[in-house]
Amino acid sequence: MAETMAAVPNDVMERLRAAIDDNFNDQVAFLQKMVQFRSLRGEEEPLQQWLAAQFEKRGYKVDQFSLADVDLMSHPKAAPMDTIPLEGSRQVVATLDGGGKGRSLILQGHVDVVPEGPVDLWADAPFEAIVRDGWMIGRGAQDMKAGVSAMIFALDAIKRAGFAPDGRIHLETVTEEESTGNGALSTLMRGYTADACLIPEPTGHTLSRAQVGAIWFRLRVRGTPVHVAYSETGTSAILSAMHLVRAFQDYTAELNARAISNKWFGAIKNPIKFNVGIIKGGDWASSTPAWCEVDCRLGLLPGSTPAEAMKGIEQCLADAQKNDSFLSSNPAELIWSGFQADPSVCEPGSAAEAALAAIHERVFEKPLEDRMSTAVNDTRYYAVDYGIPALCYGPYGVGPHAFDERVDLDSVRKTTLSIALFVAQWCGLKAL
Ligand code: ZN
Repeated sequence: MAETMAAVPNDVMERLRAAIDDNFNDQVAFLQKMVQFRSLRGEEEPLQQWLAAQFEKRGYKVDQFSLADVDLMSHPKAAPMDTIPLEGSRQVVATLDGGGKGRSLILQGHVDVVPEGPVDLWADAPFEAIVRDGWMIGRGAQDMKAGVSAMIFALDAIKRAGFAPDGRIHLETVTEEESTGNGALSTLMRGYTADACLIPEPTGHTLSRAQVGAIWFRLRVRGTPVHVAYSETGTSAILSAMHLVRAFQDYTAELNARAISNKWFGAIKNPIKFNVGIIKGGDWASSTPAWCEVDCRLGLLPGSTPAEAMKGIEQCLADAQKNDSFLSSNPAELIWSGFQADPSVCEPGSAAEAALAAIHERVFEKPLEDRMSTAVNDTRYYAVDYGIPALCYGPYGVGPHAFDERVDLDSVRKTTLSIALFVAQWCGLKAL
């Protein structure tokens, strides 16, 4: 049964608001600096070191560790990492613990960003973090460095307003969110748990009610190289791969036809997305290609498990190869290459959600709405594996993973206030 929580008094709210406003130029500069780190997968370390130094400057107790420092691969939910060394993937956990009796809280954000693609297709340079017309533009500005700045500056505002949280807080910046989730998982394995978790992914001030799971897989397809002059005597790995991709497109359509009965995603058109994200293959325009590799991602809905989804992928592949003259005797190799993510639901009715809903309404003067997410986020480990209420709620922006990704800075300011008030409401505050 949820305990009732006293609402944060209006004068405290106004002091927090003033502290955030006074410090907002510094917050924007901080966010700009974060975006300027090109923290692609496997290249997050300089940013993580910089963040650890920022946390130390604030007097927080900082724990830095790599994925090799926990027994990651012993965990049943660890996802394979075939291209990134565990040692190079650094996690940062900053702890503020004044020994108070309030509830504890994890504020977590990821610092890995996806590749920017061809720079000439961006209107502005993707890592300059240009500010224009109230937006900050850049890869990762929205997803999700803005949210990371909001959680850090929410705590700064509490201190500037003359308070400290009355419960233990872990402020965590993690890697691997865009590929496996192993960063978030490693913090839990390291022992960081709390009464609730908030992840300020850019949800546009909505609460992520349910999210899909996802599986990453790679198909390694072979061919028989011959001179194109007698191509009928060879086979093309690229054309074979295209045959398999079409089979997965058909399979996804079947899955989506069944999805209309899903409790959470039934009203959403085609919630299961299949994507071929990387294709490599062949060596020569006049040789039938001997090899092709495609990296794929397939979603799955609440009510199903990654193991079931992986079985479905194996079956789809087997069926597609069975009647193909080449693939039936030269099957593609199937490699599990990343995400084996559970779908997850933020179960309605938690005390943490009630606190966030009350706070949101005060900041935005409208009720907190929820949304179903056809992408994954790190809250799943908290909800599915560790029984910790986890809320995904953050700022507004456009273009995640796209050209000209941007975040609305006024939304970042309001989200910072939401988070500060949520900390006040959830953990309680004490005067400094
Ligand atoms: Zn994200």
